[in-house]
Amino acid sequence: MPSEPFSLMIHGGAGQIREAGDPQTAGRYHAALHAVLEAGRERLARGDTALDTVEYCAARLEDNPLFNAGTGATLTRDGTVELDAAIMDGAALAAGAVAAVRGIANPIRLARAVLDDGEHVLLVADGAASFAREIGMPQVDEETLITPQRREQLERALCQGRVTLDHNEPAPGTIGAVARDRHGHLAAATSTGGMTGQRSGRVGDSPIPGAGVYADDATAAISATGHGEHFLRSVFARELADRVEYLGLSAAEALNASLQRLRERLAGYGGAIVIDRNGRCAAGTTTPRMLHGWIEHAGPSRTRIEPLILPPAR
Ligand code: ASP
Repeated sequence: MPSEPFSLMIHGGAGQIREAGDPQTAGRYHAALHAVLEAGRERLARGDTALDTVEYCAARLEDNPLFNAGTGATLTRDGTVELDAAIMDGAALAAGAVAAVRGIANPIRLARAVLDDGEHVLLVADGAASFAREIGMPQVDEETLITPQRREQLERALCQGRVTLDHNEPAPGTIGAVARDRHGHLAAATSTGGMTGQRSGRVGDSPIPGAGVYADDATAAISATGHGEHFLRSVFARELADRVEYLGLSAAEALNASLQRLRERLAGYGGAIVIDRNGRCAAGTTTPRMLHGWIEHAGPSRTRIEPLILPPAR
């Protein structure tokens, strides 16, 4: 049995997350994150791979309607649920992703199937759905993915005319997981419904390797959350990995520097979780809050709602 200590981090989105100011709601977030961390711990401790573990943790978070992924995902301005997800294996630099896919309860599992299939990296919309049918992944009625809260959120956004991305406020709850397993391998996963009231067909950073997700055993595993356009334009995750690779920075140092750049160059709104090649964990955001939790080097599991590194941008 390999003997390296494992590390695991998960997140449930960044933003204002005003509802987390309510102690009861905050308690639900902490409990949900804690349960997933502990289930992930069990898997990593028995020697499961980082890749299998991030897929498992991401699917659990997708199933929880508290979060903006899978069941409980945000709605487009047409009222549809269009899901993006990606998973990356740092050992092989292999990735699988789906975007704007409809009627799939666990897009992260579909992304994993794309990775395992190996022919392509990213499948979108109808093409992703027909790949799902081909591999026997069940399609679900879109209605079963929609919660009353997300309908209300869309209605509010439409009433306030906040259907463009200018409102600078991602819907809370995009999810992500990163891990380093006992074999020393890294993996990352990100899954989202995108931003409330986004144009149908819009794809953010989450399913794009190098932007909202990245894993390379030589550098780090990263999952981002926030205003996707900022993360796409800054090629956030790979830029962060470059700092580990070429400057020898730790997870926290690299994340801090990448968030500073995001904020200074793009007034970027969002954050990320990172595990570096040595299993060190870091989380940070330019937003007032980010839901996240971690287990560093097989230590205790911790969950947080406030950012760890940077104070809110404004
Ligand atoms: N990054 C996601 C997107 O832009 C949204 C989020 O993380 O809340 O689609």
